Amino acid sequence: MNLIFLGPPGAGKGTQAQRVAAAHGLVQLSTGDMLRAAVAAGTEVGLKAKAVMEAGELVSDDIVVAIVADRIAGPDCAGGFVLDGFPRTVAQAEALDTVLDGNGMRIDHVVEMTVDDDALVERISGRFSCVACGAAYHDRFNRPKVEGVCDACGGGEFVRREDDNAETVATRLRAYHAQTAPLLPYYRERGALRPVDGMAEIDAVTRQIEAVLDGGGGD
Ligand code: AMP
Repeated sequence: MNLIFLGPPGAGKGTQAQRVAAAHGLVQLSTGDMLRAAVAAGTEVGLKAKAVMEAGELVSDDIVVAIVADRIAGPDCAGGFVLDGFPRTVAQAEALDTVLDGNGMRIDHVVEMTVDDDALVERISGRFSCVACGAAYHDRFNRPKVEGVCDACGGGEFVRREDDNAETVATRLRAYHAQTAPLLPYYRERGALRPVDGMAEIDAVTRQIEAVLDGGGGD
């Protein structure tokens, strides 16, 4: 099963992608995580992407498409994957279709997580993740069960993203509405779009997504 999770920054794509990937044995492919790893490693891609990411704008289509094309062709993706944060432009979606065709693959569901813009700033400014395993948390909505200890791996070190600040969030939201929202009609026309209410509580969103994967929901 191959999935795309679509939605604005802070909608919960990463949190839900981690859960669904773990539950179904899928590989989570987050272009944001891959780009952050490239920045941290100081690779050529990382050097090109760093300033763009810090400003909250989109990295160029050719860079992200090349990264995803390379990952999707990997043997671990043959058992299914969740794309989280990609595609983000119509050009990326078209390039993805070509890559999938070339690998004899298809997307089963495009899960759209709908969230009010007003809620996104609070969601984004409270989030943090485990340094060791990347598990996602939030100051208000999703704290570790034991304070300071990662539920998933027991790690004790957490990190907040540099681009999770009010100023950059506004730019990221504008980029979403201008460049990514046109993907909604793109996938709706293909009969693949499955909206879920991203304003619901985290477990309830997971249940809605599971219902979609079981064959319910969608438009
Ligand atoms: P995310 O972790 O998905 O919020 O992505 C963080 C940042 O990485 C974004 O604000 C962009 O600068 C960049 N990025 C991630 N995925 C993409 C993509 N598919 N296309 C362009 N830029 C991306």
